Amino acid sequence: MITPYRYGPVDIWPGQRPSLCGLLKWMASDTFHWLGDGYRHAPPPGEETFTDLHIRHLRQAMGHRLKAIQFTKRQESFNGADWELWIHNRSHGIGLRIQAKKQSRKGQYGFWYWLHERSALQCDLLVHDALITQCVPVYLLYNHRGPWTVAQGLAQGLCGHTASDQSHYGCTLLSAFHVQAALFRLVIDNDLYGHYRNISHQRLRQMSAPWNQVLCDVQEPKEVRDSRGVATLKEIQRRSAALEQSGLEALGRVDPEGFSTPSQVQRDHSDLGDAPELRTRLDETPARGDAQTALRPLPQRVLRLLEADDPCPPEPDVPTSAVVLYDVTDAEERLVNERGRLYHS
Ligand SMILES: [Zn+2]
Repeated sequence: MITPYRYGPVDIWPGQRPSLCGLLKWMASDTFHWLGDGYRHAPPPGEETFTDLHIRHLRQAMGHRLKAIQFTKRQESFNGADWELWIHNRSHGIGLRIQAKKQSRKGQYGFWYWLHERSALQCDLLVHDALITQCVPVYLLYNHRGPWTVAQGLAQGLCGHTASDQSHYGCTLLSAFHVQAALFRLVIDNDLYGHYRNISHQRLRQMSAPWNQVLCDVQEPKEVRDSRGVATLKEIQRRSAALEQSGLEALGRVDPEGFSTPSQVQRDHSDLGDAPELRTRLDETPARGDAQTALRPLPQRVLRLLEADDPCPPEPDVPTSAVVLYDVTDAEERLVNERGRLYHS
């Protein structure tokens, strides 16, 4: 007997699959309501719970298109990032290095997070580790509290799949460079000049965009079938690059006073001693124009994970709790949206 399985409110039949956009939107709504409910009635779940649940939903709904490799959590306290998400067509793709941050009851995020083990700010480590792993460094914000707007430059170019009750804002992506810029200003003003400055959490959230609208894989029907998923990947790459560019521009407006990272200012000012130098985008010339949107070959490390059968591969060089690989090729299945209706019929 052929039976459907459920994801969220929808039955998925063999030969169908939810789009990544539809699934991410549904997970964002679930996060939004769960977090809001948690603050009203009980302690809300932590970031790790949401991350574990998101990976589980992705794995269950996407079947063979998705490979999730979870590592032991032994090294997590040394780590700037929670997990990596790669969207790929088996040879090329884009990777996000994701640090989850839950919005507090009053609408703030724990961006100021000093990791004593590595004597650095979590944000600087996220950027450093992302540059090593060839990923885009992002915060994944779990939100429950508005107002809901996305900065104008970013809002253009996002897909139009939104929830009528705004709950798609439950999960939004923010370039880590925006946070690095805000932390840089904070430590330079507070530590070097003694002018008290705080982080504008609301302004930073407005620089983030709903994750389904950035990572949307729903393409208009075309005459030529995109079996390799190249058009889909290019769109995702373009939107991710716009997100990152916005953060790099914010960082470019900061006068770093000769320091390479906010962590370096903090260590210098508070006599915390030396620590290994962290990489930042300030050292590198960012890609422009075509180079920004050209598809990049998957790193060897990611190809090896794709091919590996081992459910418990060796720990990665740069610690991470999970690597999730989503394959966009050969969309034989028919895409259904979160209400179970076909997208193109
Ligand atoms: Zn979409």
